[in-house]
Amino acid sequence: MAIRMICKDGEAVLRKKSKPVGRINDRVTQLIDDMVETLKDANGVGLAAPQVGILKRIIVIDASGEEGAEPIVLINPEITARSGAQSYYEGCLSFPGYYGDVGRPEAVTVAALDRNGARVEYDAEGLFAVACCHEIDHLDGVMFMDKVKGRLYSAEEIRQMREKEAEKADKPDKPDKTEKTEAAAKA
Ligand SMILES: [Zn+2]
Repeated sequence: MAIRMICKDGEAVLRKKSKPVGRINDRVTQLIDDMVETLKDANGVGLAAPQVGILKRIIVIDASGEEGAEPIVLINPEITARSGAQSYYEGCLSFPGYYGDVGRPEAVTVAALDRNGARVEYDAEGLFAVACCHEIDHLDGVMFMDKVKGRLYSAEEIRQMREKEAEKADKPDKPDKTEKTEAAAKA
């Protein structure tokens, strides 16, 4: 396994459409292993193959927020159902340091193949749903800042917003939205 370089905004590969994966051969499983390693190293929520310069329809997601959790691997993912609405301050490993408010469905159903080529389906909600939408957008050359409502915010501004939210909350524990804002930071 190896950590791959993450492409940054401005690199042409991020704006291209990725191709479906045909046969899951050794090159594909190697790429998946590397993407998982790269996501963990970057402490991100999700990573799409074009972010490491490969135009294949593969995404890896870890929206669990748990230390040491194994990311979910989705090959040729497709959103087959969506419902509700939510908005998060999303960020992106390919656009570090900036965050923006993006509207997404509250829940999505995603159909895909797993790394063994078996059909899988996930009913994703909350941050998991956000991450699925964000990463599948990458496969079509779409970046979160294309969809941001209002302006982009710096990491420092997001930190200050979180502090204000925490102050506003009556309970001593962090409000739910704050946690999600933090978790959605890098995808
Ligand atoms: Zn991204």
